[in-house]
Amino acid sequence: MSERLVGAGEREEDFDVALRPQRLSEFVGQRKARENLSVFIEAARTRGEALDHVLFAGPPGLGKTTLAQIVARELGVNFRATSGPVIAKAGDLAALLTNLEERDVLFIDEIHRLSPAVEEILYPAMEDFQLDLIIGEGPAARSVRIELAPFTLVGATTRTGLLTTPLRDRFGIPVRLNFYEEAELEAIVTRGAGVLGTSITSDGAKEIARRARGTPRVAGRLLRRVRDFAVVDGEGAIDAALADKALERLEVDARGLDALDHRYLRNVAVKFSGGPVGIETIAAALSEPRDAIEEIIEPYLIQQGFVNRTPRGRVLTALAFRHLGLPAPASGSG
Ligand code: ADP
Repeated sequence: MSERLVGAGEREEDFDVALRPQRLSEFVGQRKARENLSVFIEAARTRGEALDHVLFAGPPGLGKTTLAQIVARELGVNFRATSGPVIAKAGDLAALLTNLEERDVLFIDEIHRLSPAVEEILYPAMEDFQLDLIIGEGPAARSVRIELAPFTLVGATTRTGLLTTPLRDRFGIPVRLNFYEEAELEAIVTRGAGVLGTSITSDGAKEIARRARGTPRVAGRLLRRVRDFAVVDGEGAIDAALADKALERLEVDARGLDALDHRYLRNVAVKFSGGPVGIETIAAALSEPRDAIEEIIEPYLIQQGFVNRTPRGRVLTALAFRHLGLPAPASGSG
């Protein structure tokens, strides 16, 4: 392992990279996904074939990119990465695909944001490793077919529901990533502290893990911020008391909800009497894009039982009112 890759003046992305597990066996959590992947990877390797296309779905920061890189490493092939919004034209995708070597992994992040024209040429590429391109325009236009090396497409999306059905159906290995357990995040925090060269007590790691919104990326970010407090306070190791004090200052509450979570909950509680209220209305009230609310804020609040999604809109639960210290509305609304 490459501990202490990053020194005192490290940048956030460097730390993200340093924290990345390199092998499937180092990857903490997501047991079911890990076990299945390891079987499929082993089988593909044994047969000397390209691995079937893989789709990773789940909220940001759960390890989709990390797993995609691990898949390539375990297969012993090249890893090429791009993202949906970056591929503007069919030709951009064609250039990427024709440069792939046999069994390579092409990773497309935010794959639900591919344009329809680009998606169209992806279908035959995924299915038959063929590229059908139109060259030229008007009456002179002609179509050419290019054979591609068999490759593995690894797609990542925050919500499978955003993918078109034909695209979704072409992934042989759909993998859903879930929020992490506290013990798993604790292991990730402890390992991260090792990478940073910071000492942390087991209670300190637990405190950060408990308040990391079930998300490794958040755990890493909180660890770095708490470490700043440790440095300034001149404390040695990060313990539970220091972690608690720092997280309090960062407005991360005991359940791991941050300022934005609180703004969401308070708005729905106070302005809309706990709902039901539509997502567009919430987005307008918070001045935040609807996508960000649905992809980043709500999944954790729903998983933790603070919010329910109903056909008539979002509804706060009694638990949410209790957490906010507000009286729940008299008549049950959900
Ligand atoms: P996503 O692509 O789902 O947004 P990333 O793969 O970029 O998430 O992961 C975000 C950060 O969390 C990275 O620094 C990564 O190293 C770390 N991380 C994610 N999953 C794990 C894990 N299972 N174990 C350790 N670190 C992880």
